[in-house]
Amino acid sequence: MFTDLSLIFDFQWNVFSLTSLLSVIINLFLLVLVRAKGPKNESTNWFILVLILLIIWGISEFLDRNSASQIASLFWDYVGRPGWILVTPVLFGFALHFVGQENILKNRFNQLLIFGPFILVLFFSWNTNLIINNDISAHHRVYYGWSITPLGSFFEVFTLLFILFLTASVVLLTRFYLGASDLIKRRQALFIMGAFLIPIIGGIFTDAIFPILGIQIVPIAIILTTAMTISVTYTIIRYSLFVVSPTLAASTIIDTISEALLVIRPNQLIEQVNKATIDLIGLKKNELIGANIQRIMPDDETWNDFREVVLKPLREKDLVLNFKTKFKTKEGKTVPVSFSGVSLKDIGGLISIVGLARNLAKEEEFEQMKLDFVSIAAHELRTPLTSIRGYLSVLQEEVKGKISEEQSSFLDKAFISSNQLEALVENLLSVSRIERGAMQLEKSSVDWEELVSSIVTTYLVRAKGREIDIYFKTPEKKLPKIYVDKFRISEVLYNLIDNALTHTEAGGSVEVSSGLDGDHVVTYVKDTGEGIPPDALPKLFTKFFRVSGVLEQGSKGTGLGLYISKAIVEMHKGKIWVESTPGVGSTFSFSIPVKGEKIEPEFDKFKELGLTHAPDSNGK
Ligand code: ADP
Repeated sequence: MFTDLSLIFDFQWNVFSLTSLLSVIINLFLLVLVRAKGPKNESTNWFILVLILLIIWGISEFLDRNSASQIASLFWDYVGRPGWILVTPVLFGFALHFVGQENILKNRFNQLLIFGPFILVLFFSWNTNLIINNDISAHHRVYYGWSITPLGSFFEVFTLLFILFLTASVVLLTRFYLGASDLIKRRQALFIMGAFLIPIIGGIFTDAIFPILGIQIVPIAIILTTAMTISVTYTIIRYSLFVVSPTLAASTIIDTISEALLVIRPNQLIEQVNKATIDLIGLKKNELIGANIQRIMPDDETWNDFREVVLKPLREKDLVLNFKTKFKTKEGKTVPVSFSGVSLKDIGGLISIVGLARNLAKEEEFEQMKLDFVSIAAHELRTPLTSIRGYLSVLQEEVKGKISEEQSSFLDKAFISSNQLEALVENLLSVSRIERGAMQLEKSSVDWEELVSSIVTTYLVRAKGREIDIYFKTPEKKLPKIYVDKFRISEVLYNLIDNALTHTEAGGSVEVSSGLDGDHVVTYVKDTGEGIPPDALPKLFTKFFRVSGVLEQGSKGTGLGLYISKAIVEMHKGKIWVESTPGVGSTFSFSIPVKGEKIEPEFDKFKELGLTHAPDSNGK
């Protein structure tokens, strides 16, 4: 039909074509704006497609109105049809994305249902005279360009589809507006709804009301549609459509947290995962979603425990905290994790379990690095510190009587500080040894009564200086010998007595006693000091914990003493505990089992290695 190209490009200026040109310019501008400023997501892409179709429509309409001949007008009319015919289903797709029902578009049948009718209309408009009359003779010159009369007996099929789909979009948006809790998305929905109404209402006027009233106007469908795209673009840019919505923000945040998040259905299928889960397990998102949670469990035993301790209880309980379990990665590796789960319920029962899994392997690695650092630093501090203390004490001796009292007090203070520093370094080394599991006991048979009373004796001078009465209460019955690491267990006694003296005022007393309780020897350090507030008691034996009491001010404790004491007592398979009343005093007690087996854990290890005797103190 369009054999003579020169006819097609035969133009004659028509001023009304400016409306089409204007819409092309506007939509081009909107396209650039949305691409540059709009969020990068599916909704934006659908909207960009709307703009492209409008641009095709506008350009062809512009050329149509300027066509000099019937054949040219018909050609440009053909070119423009995909534009105005397909824009409706694409707008519908955009609306579906906006309300979060884009899944509808993933189904082949739905795709056919939405796009099929319009593609058919386009097909028939090109190949038959049913929708649009393609007879050259039907093209008439009118003041605004060209008009086709009669149009096509089934043109109303298109009008109907147009009204149907735009109305469906408005219904979707209204329902979304009424149900959405997110304020910004609600406002956007309202705006888009209004924008969609412009071409619908406009179309009703131009296609129904005006013709009935006998009013003839320039076809302005493209202007109405452009008014709509302007409004939608405004919403996209103004509220940065979809991006700032709290729901989206929440899912972004969920993706940035380092813990693996899993939503699990009551039927044990994985419903949702975040990026950390994908990274941890190594499987793709779509491989995880819909899979049974058992799939990421390394073995049946772990799975059974997980089901019994986490999944089953969460049907009734709201919360399961820090359950240590294991996940299996894609490569079949096992990762230790700490799993916490919350159950989401409604009246009908459990809906989902939201679980957070912390990768313990990563933490252990980090913890190990910290310990190594502390250990190395403390070791390095030890040598210069010993030499400082050595020189200070020599200096103290040498200059005695040759310097003023004030200068002498400076030296004393320096010496005391260096002692405190040494105690701190030793404590740090002990802590790092404990935590690395490197602290070893060298047990021997010990006369406990003798050991405790000798330690108490070393405090007599200091206690007297502070006007505190310290004494060892001899046990009523002779205590059996116990197997302990004399050096380490003494550290515990020193610590407790030291603390008791520090926290007791002049005039008070510290009583140390020991007795047999069942198969344990229990030792008590009882003071009449300031006591410990009840809320501090649970934290007392943790690392670096200190109560800043009245007497404490100015003293330079490290908060490590009780932590180390507890570790040493527990290594002896004993217990340590405290009873305290503020203002009355505290009693720290610890127990050591009498049958402190001679066999040490280390010994067992050597037996395994085929050695028949424990290594000597050099570790050989
Ligand atoms: P440090 O004594 O180096 O601060 P500890 O671990 O030995 O560290 O003690 C932790 C805290 O427990 C102390 O800071 C102190 O507040 C409190 N505490 C320990 N023993 C007593 C006691 N006998 N009376 C009162 N408070 C005590």
